[in-house]
Amino acid sequence: MNKHNFSAGPAILPDDVKRRASIAAYDYDSTGLSLMEMSHRGKEFTQVLERAELNVRNLFKVDDSYAVLFLTGGASSQFYMSAMNLAGKNDKIAYLDTGTWAKKAIKEAKLFTNVDVVASSADNNYSYIPKDYKLSDDTKYLHLTSNNTIFGTQIKTWPSLDCPMVCDMSSDIFSRNIPVEKFDLIYAGAQKNVGPAGVTLVIVKKEILGKVERDIPTMLKYQTHIDKGSSFNTPPVFPIYVTMLTLDWIIQNGGVSAMEVRNSKKANALYNEIDNNPLFTGCASIEDRSDMNATFLLNNEDLNSAFSAQCEDVGIVGLTGHRSVGGYRASMYNAMGQESVEVLINVMKEFAQKNG
Ligand SMILES: *Cc1c(COP(=O)(O)O)cnc(C)c1O
Repeated sequence: MNKHNFSAGPAILPDDVKRRASIAAYDYDSTGLSLMEMSHRGKEFTQVLERAELNVRNLFKVDDSYAVLFLTGGASSQFYMSAMNLAGKNDKIAYLDTGTWAKKAIKEAKLFTNVDVVASSADNNYSYIPKDYKLSDDTKYLHLTSNNTIFGTQIKTWPSLDCPMVCDMSSDIFSRNIPVEKFDLIYAGAQKNVGPAGVTLVIVKKEILGKVERDIPTMLKYQTHIDKGSSFNTPPVFPIYVTMLTLDWIIQNGGVSAMEVRNSKKANALYNEIDNNPLFTGCASIEDRSDMNATFLLNNEDLNSAFSAQCEDVGIVGLTGHRSVGGYRASMYNAMGQESVEVLINVMKEFAQKNG
């Protein structure tokens, strides 16, 4: 049966990407070898890495003042690596506490510098994005989480502050246009919107590096990976290849602007159903609702298993909400087509007819 994959991550990949990846896994470009058994310094993989970087630069209009890196350790490693490389012991960095991932980032940064949590939406189970906050003058940078995967909120308007920003974009990178020049550092685990697990994308402004007095292990210095073109050690060859294919796919489908249109169309359709269907309630505050992850509840929890069964019947997978929110979460990343969202909407409509 055709599956409709609403999983939050690892998440849906375009069909075409999966097909190409499966060929490359066995016989890369008719070489008689799998890409997984080739040297990471050979010409085949070098070309993959170059093309992946070029795709990132094209899609986000990233100029040469930034480095584009493909690292390991997940977005979770960037929680400490960013603070370690960018903030000295006596500096101060600001955080917006918008959910589980932000909280984890805050915890790690505290090991290396002074952390100022300037606003938090913990008071209402992270159902909104705080907007009214001030930074103290000595703030080195503001750390944001652009899309809160678990709670279904997304920053729609970037703060207009005269302060550099660092952003965890793990669950909405390449889903919409962003002003790259406002950010000193952008990072994202690939497994939500841009590839499989195993590679982490980093876009970092080169001039901000090397200014912190601290001994940093070689592998944890951005400069190491810049100097060696993401190949200081063996990079995650296959995840980088699949990421490159996914970026190719985004470009072939009109780039980030086209993704933005497509994503808001899908999200609007689903939120419209959540708002109009008497059985369901959305979790996130309307103005901050994520185009990537829609969180919602059945008003009568006794109906949960019946609804889940009906979803399963039509091939919907991965719809269960995170344990900290409960209910349902529909993740609608770039690769998801409008038709999968329509399948979910129809199930919700039919369910209301039966149980309303
Ligand atoms: C999934 C996720 C992470 C964690 O990513 P890993 O690559 O598993 O470390 C961090 N931030 C956000 C916003 C996420 O959605």
